[in-house]
Amino acid sequence: MLGPISISIAMKHLYIHIPFCQHRCSYCDFNSYAHMEHRIEAYVTALCAELALLATTITPTPPRSAEAAALRPSIFLGGGTPTMLSLAQIERILTAADQIVPLAHAEVTCEANPGTLLHPDYLCGLRQVGVNRLSLGVQSLHNPTLRILGRIHNAQEAHQSYLHAREAGFDSINLDLIFALPGQTLEQWETTLVEIARWQPDHLALYSLILEEQTPLYAQVTAGRIRLPDDDHSAAMYELAMEYLAAQGYVQYEISNVARTHTTAPLPSHACHHNLAYWLNSDYLAAGAGAYGHLTTPPDPHRYANRLTIDDYLHALHVGQRPVAEIIPLTPADLYAETMMMGLRLNIGVSSAHFAARCGAALDAVYADEIADLVAQGWLTRDAERVSFTPRGRMIGNQIFQRFL
Ligand code: SF4
Repeated sequence: MLGPISISIAMKHLYIHIPFCQHRCSYCDFNSYAHMEHRIEAYVTALCAELALLATTITPTPPRSAEAAALRPSIFLGGGTPTMLSLAQIERILTAADQIVPLAHAEVTCEANPGTLLHPDYLCGLRQVGVNRLSLGVQSLHNPTLRILGRIHNAQEAHQSYLHAREAGFDSINLDLIFALPGQTLEQWETTLVEIARWQPDHLALYSLILEEQTPLYAQVTAGRIRLPDDDHSAAMYELAMEYLAAQGYVQYEISNVARTHTTAPLPSHACHHNLAYWLNSDYLAAGAGAYGHLTTPPDPHRYANRLTIDDYLHALHVGQRPVAEIIPLTPADLYAETMMMGLRLNIGVSSAHFAARCGAALDAVYADEIADLVAQGWLTRDAERVSFTPRGRMIGNQIFQRFL
């Protein structure tokens, strides 16, 4: 006799934060801590407990639009430096995560600091425990700049890590790069781009340096000991990168992200599905110290923020509680604005169908005037289906986003 049919609905996207680093970079304001290695084992145990709580207490939310439904499920191990964990610890975390997002068909990304990947066996092990996409924080190939940034790797080690990852069988590798770095010239940036393109990574994320208060770099810049390129210089570096990488076969699909492709579809084959979930303003769970989750199922759409410090986080799970520090309710107006601000980052922009499915309201009922005005000024373009940035609009995206608030 057949038993009851069980229908399992899983959450589609899960972010897991690993807040440990060997050394704090001079520009970093992420939730990461150096010299806390003695807490890693307890943290992994607590993280697995949090994942088990999430698996039993959160009702999965199905994707709202066809574009979101087309994404692969995803798990993203970010940090911090997830590769400071042993393979056994990463395997324990992924086994717990599998109860929320089944690993079998998921994009499973692990962020990695090239300075921690000098042993090829570790990369083979990462593949074996289920990681199928690697995101390497290369940042620059100019060694004096890497030293100013306080990175623990040099250019040669970054390349070696990349080669080891290919040998280990990773066929989807992202490299993070930063531009507008201290003292950086256009020529230095071009040299880094030319060398990186020669490696042929599948995906590149390129961000201009953001000078955050309360970082050592901020103190050095405000004291006049270090100079950063000005905005015009930074814009020239951005344009140079996008033009050069397009000529090398990379497809830009988001303001800061390019990828290789095997198809003519607007989203390249190597686009990051986890980040696409953010840009499509999808729901996702998050676990780990300081992680943010996003759940918009009625009746209480909200974002939640976990406790920030490792000790506070451990304490909550030690007494069997979810480590949530703050619940931020989301109004329909929040949902409209976030769907526009995140979606316009994509080159495909925001389709009327996606907006309606995601927000339960017609795009023109909410933003007809704003869109018409921005189209008239040449910042946005619109066809029968979609609204997206013009190339000129993409350069000043942050100012345009304000119009949707
Ligand atoms: S490796 Fe990343 S998270 Fe760690 S200190 Fe450097 S920038 Fe911050």
